[in-house]
Amino acid sequence: MSCTGDSDTVARTKRKVAYIYSPEYIETCDSLSKVPKRASMVHSLIEAYELLDDMSVVKPRMATIQEMAQFHTDAYLEHLHKISQDGDNDDPQSGDYGLGYDCPIVEGIFEYAAAVGGATLTAAQCLLERRCDVAINWAGGWHHAKKDEASGFCYVNDAVLGILKLREKYDRVLYVDVDLHHGDGVEDAFSFTSKVMTVSLHKFSPGFFPGTGDVCDTGLGKGRWHSVNVPMEDGIKDDKYYQVFLSVMQEVRALFNPEAVVMQLGADTMAGDPMCSFNMTPVGVARCMQHVLQWRLPTLLLGGGGYHLANTARCWTFLTGSVLERTLSSEIPDHEVDTHTHTHTHTHTHTHTHTHTHTHTHTHTHTHTHTHTHTHTQETHHYYTLFRCTYTINNRSRANPHTVNNQTNAFASALIYTHCTLL
Ligand SMILES: [Zn+2]
Repeated sequence: MSCTGDSDTVARTKRKVAYIYSPEYIETCDSLSKVPKRASMVHSLIEAYELLDDMSVVKPRMATIQEMAQFHTDAYLEHLHKISQDGDNDDPQSGDYGLGYDCPIVEGIFEYAAAVGGATLTAAQCLLERRCDVAINWAGGWHHAKKDEASGFCYVNDAVLGILKLREKYDRVLYVDVDLHHGDGVEDAFSFTSKVMTVSLHKFSPGFFPGTGDVCDTGLGKGRWHSVNVPMEDGIKDDKYYQVFLSVMQEVRALFNPEAVVMQLGADTMAGDPMCSFNMTPVGVARCMQHVLQWRLPTLLLGGGGYHLANTARCWTFLTGSVLERTLSSEIPDHEVDTHTHTHTHTHTHTHTHTHTHTHTHTHTHTHTHTHTHTHTQETHHYYTLFRCTYTINNRSRANPHTVNNQTNAFASALIYTHCTLL
């Protein structure tokens, strides 16, 4: 599909897409997240394909502590704020809040959390105001963070904050998570409500993080049957994954009838990812995403995992092109990744002298000197092509059905049935 058809048709059907970006945001994510420089690699590739021309670029704001407290506890946020000021690694309380090994304590980590949370809130706000049909925050999607605990590289659960923001207008919000890992933080946040349905497709295997997401975990209390878990084993490829995704999502839509969607598109399912588990390609993930987008609901797209940085940049660039219905050449355009450490020196000196020799003399001198120094380094990333790259297919195991306990609810049974017959 490309935008070369009849212009009237294109104008009627073209999605309005908001892309959350500012140089400062990317710089913060580059330096403080557990995936250094990934944010700028993703952005540079999207820019190189000239996809920014077809989206409205929206500058994110920072989340306030009150906004983050819509989900997180005051005690957690206050602790994160305290240790962030000096990068204090020795605070004995940090362990209680999940801070340490997986979620290292570095100076400025609170500002990183506020930036990521704020970016997803900015995206959700664009959707609420109908300024766009689809909003994208590739540097978001930190689905493991709990209300009082950092977990799995996630300090703030921006997905939860985005869902809560959308709930201000939309009664039923659907969360769809195709990251390799179970979206445990988001499921936990909404396990007791029937207003948010969470669907997570993920690897489920003994010892594999976070260990939750069994098919029989379906929600609690009023939220019973509103958590959907689709556990999978290693090796799954595009076609089989899409079959499972399609059958589950058709049931989910028919039974829940969502008014808005948040989709987490973690790219650690890609073949070649250091997680070495699933064998997905961007084409397979895009098919899943397109199935959700064709519902034409307000949709917030988030990133997530993705530890082969170049493959992750490829995947999210391909997905951005797919949202925009643009066909991307496999040949990657020449581009450089700006690492945001610039050296620029600007010196402006203005001198104005006005002399009036009538009844008085007026002399005005204005000198303005502005000096601005950073170090400028640029790196070129060699991607070869968008599709034929470093995907190494993992053949060490195949997808298997997961043992399912007896369920009586028709909804859960339908999902489980389709899940088991497909795998
Ligand atoms: Zn993940």
